[in-house]
Amino acid sequence: MHGYLSNGSKSECVACGGCAQNCPCSAISMTIDEYGFVYPRVDKDKCISCNKCINVCMFEGQIQKQYEPLFSYGGYCIDKGIREKSTSGGAFSAICKAYAMKRDCVFFGSTSDRLKIYHTYVENINNINIFNSSKYGQSEIGESYKQVKVFLDKKKYVVFSGTPCQIAGLIKFLGKTDTSRLLTVEVLCTGIPSALFMKKYEEWCNIKYGSSIKSFNYRFTNKNKWDDQPTLVELETGKRIITARWFSNFYSIFLQRLMSRPSCNKCQFVTKKRTADITLSDLWGLDKEYPDLYDDGSGSSWIICNSEKGIETFEKARNYMIGHEVEYDRMRKYQRPGLIEKTVHPSYDIFMEDLKNMNYPELCKKWAKKPTLKLLFQKYVYNNRMRVRIWKLKQYIKH
Ligand SMILES: Cc1cc2nc3c(=O)[nH]c(=O)nc-3n(C[C@H](O)[C@H](O)[C@H](O)COP(=O)(O)OP(=O)(O)OC[C@H]3O[C@@H](n4cnc5c(N)ncnc54)[C@H](O)[C@@H]3O)c2cc1C
Repeated sequence: MHGYLSNGSKSECVACGGCAQNCPCSAISMTIDEYGFVYPRVDKDKCISCNKCINVCMFEGQIQKQYEPLFSYGGYCIDKGIREKSTSGGAFSAICKAYAMKRDCVFFGSTSDRLKIYHTYVENINNINIFNSSKYGQSEIGESYKQVKVFLDKKKYVVFSGTPCQIAGLIKFLGKTDTSRLLTVEVLCTGIPSALFMKKYEEWCNIKYGSSIKSFNYRFTNKNKWDDQPTLVELETGKRIITARWFSNFYSIFLQRLMSRPSCNKCQFVTKKRTADITLSDLWGLDKEYPDLYDDGSGSSWIICNSEKGIETFEKARNYMIGHEVEYDRMRKYQRPGLIEKTVHPSYDIFMEDLKNMNYPELCKKWAKKPTLKLLFQKYVYNNRMRVRIWKLKQYIKH
């Protein structure tokens, strides 16, 4: 297998930026293409053809997928505050706390500032909340891989979180570095949408509301609304726009798989074998499989431990959570894009051309779907909450 810098194929680049970080003469910059996706660009005048960029590309040779799942757990954080800030059950925070116990630890993850999504690190466990909440966009890695290496070389303990491809990029980048103090935590990933769509959305906000976007929360989970997956947009004027997933143009287009990054359409990580020590996701399907883990609908996590280090850490993290072991095969079927297959919309190429040429209302009119009555019934009447209530009633009658 060969990567983008060798063969120019855009489906063989996840924008981990390992190449740019390993270049000894700063000849590689990460630049945005016409469709809103980031790729490395080589400045031929600076390049000395040392091949250090190629050597750390995860697409050169075999991608390292080391582990089979060893232990699978469903549950949520006892601390309601953490759970409200987090996307699912707050497992990420519990894991960081457990790994940091009695250790000098550094935490890497994705945070955001307005529409910019980027990786950074914090050295104080009390500051890890800047990573809470899933941002559905490409997180710029910046110099994070290099920084991880520096910390590991100094014998510090490091937690690195990101998408499966970002973890694979890190492992390849680190090569022979001693990784015994590194814990990798990946989120199961639907895919990364184009940033151009968000740019067009902001342009439209400026026209419609006379304001740009102050913050965009892709998973506004407070008030027990985990199932609705609402977005919360805050504008500079103070206006707040909350939209349930079923009415969201962004989610409609993204989840039809019209605007994912080309590498997501051919994702190498939709497999049982994992690269990270721990895999995290929402515990979708819990209403049918494990209704006891629904609680009040504030969100529940699925935690898959893939390595001994992952198991050892999670054994401690469990102390901050309520939950129990869940069967991997029972939960896997609810994770189609993350673990089973990623489909591509047949009109992907047409959409991508429209994305370049149309404005936000034109794009939404042509491509976003309105929810059907059947879907609304499933989401607002006979929904997860109702199924869990019926289950509780049955339990009550039985005992
Ligand atoms: C792009 C993306 C797609 C996802 N797709 C699915 C899916 O199909 N099915 C599913 O069940 N779960 C999916 N998830 C995972 C899920 O949304 C939660 O992130 C996960 O359950 C952890 O929740 P938590 O409550 O433990 O953590 P939280 O405290 O909410 O922590 C969020 C974690 O995600 C990381 N993160 C956030 N945004 C990004 C980003 N843009 N790039 C890299 N890392 C990021 C942070 O570093 C942190 O580790 C996805 C997450 C992302 C970021």
